[in-house]
Amino acid sequence: RKCLNRIKKNQHLNAYITVTEELALKQAHEAETRLLQGTSKGPLDGIPFAVKDNFSTRDVKTTCASRMLKDYTPPYNATVVQKLFDQGALLLGKTNMDEFAMGSGSTDGAFGPVRNPWSYATPYCERTGAAQDSDWVISGGSSGGSAAAVASLTSYLALGSDTGGSTRNPGALCGVVALKPTYGLLSRHGLIPLVNSCDVPGILARSASDAAIILGILQGIDTKDSTTIPAPPSPTELPENFDVKNLCIGIPKEFYAPGLSEETAVQWSRVADMFEKSGARVEQVSLPHSHYSIACYHVLCCAEVASNMARFDGLQYGHRSEVDSSTEAMYATTRHEGFNDVVRGRILSGNYFLLKQNYEHYFVKAQRVRRLIADDFNRVFSSGIHMLLTPTTLSDAARYADFTQEDNRTRSTQEDIFTVPANMAGLPAVSVPVTLSRRGLPIGLQLIGPAFRDKKLLSVAQWIE
Ligand code: GLN
Repeated sequence: RKCLNRIKKNQHLNAYITVTEELALKQAHEAETRLLQGTSKGPLDGIPFAVKDNFSTRDVKTTCASRMLKDYTPPYNATVVQKLFDQGALLLGKTNMDEFAMGSGSTDGAFGPVRNPWSYATPYCERTGAAQDSDWVISGGSSGGSAAAVASLTSYLALGSDTGGSTRNPGALCGVVALKPTYGLLSRHGLIPLVNSCDVPGILARSASDAAIILGILQGIDTKDSTTIPAPPSPTELPENFDVKNLCIGIPKEFYAPGLSEETAVQWSRVADMFEKSGARVEQVSLPHSHYSIACYHVLCCAEVASNMARFDGLQYGHRSEVDSSTEAMYATTRHEGFNDVVRGRILSGNYFLLKQNYEHYFVKAQRVRRLIADDFNRVFSSGIHMLLTPTTLSDAARYADFTQEDNRTRSTQEDIFTVPANMAGLPAVSVPVTLSRRGLPIGLQLIGPAFRDKKLLSVAQWIE
């Protein structure tokens, strides 16, 4: 009830698209009964959680923040949602996002933008003198609703999705821990796809140790997703006194990117020094192809989007236009009315990249570059580096007014510069809040590790916390 009341008090954040009050209270009652009977299901029994609105939830609307799916109710649960239910966790609601997870601000959904809870916190209001309603800052995205839900304490944990940074980016801007697990460790069954070869369910939590518990529950093979892999055997809890003395931390020199704020760069060095002072080795490394990540991601993303979005034809589910003069006209108007211009733009680009005469030049080339990006990481990790330390975002959160004034799409693309490489290579990465900026807004740093070292990343994230 406390969580539900907080959701009501924080309605101005627009973090939730659907609040499942009745379901949450019913599940809470069942959890309470189990507790009283001594038949509790484990650490998540009775714990409220929120889910990004691109995960299927049985009998609960799943909109992808799009007009196309605004009345769509799936008949089944995504595997990760079902696993949380099986543990007795209770669903508070479905969170707001960029339409079909395309974006980095949570400003592009059909139900309005998400406001960062820190916009209304004392540090930001006092330090910047922000008094106007127009001073509020973005939550980051595309899982901005999930990050805002955890940051505003309306939920204990939330699921996001991460294709190019969509869990880590809002995690950093809202000051919560955000894990993008190794590709294939968590099932994508029921996660409405953006880029199937990059998508992973992401975990947003108040602390690294909470994230580790959730990871332990969600990971593992799923017969409904053929890309899943068995989870490495390891205890769920993080070690209490993790020692960083024997760690070798890499600092990729290409990540000193144009647009990186001075303040974020200072924090990056400060934490690197902290590692060194505690006995870790810190070395500069090079990922020469990471520079091409954004261009490469854009081609692969649009190509997969063009294919994935074909299912929204107005026939099987979702919006259907009134126009019925011909089947083609119905398709076209349905898709014109249902998708925003970001989605339509990517479908068009994707179909262009996949044209017979362009396929080799764009799609195949992007796949080759992707391999080079992944090989850079493999080379660095096999040279004795245990993990990389980088910024998560270029700076702290932008004012909504500024973010939307700039060419939104360019800004959105640049924002992913530090996060996309891990998706290209399928590697685990975690964003951890390290401080507040001069404006009183969170700054996060990112750790990227070799495949299956998710737990180790969380242990180090906990050490940073
Ligand atoms: N910002 C990137 C995009 O717009 C990544 C989004 C994501 O990770 N879902 O595609």
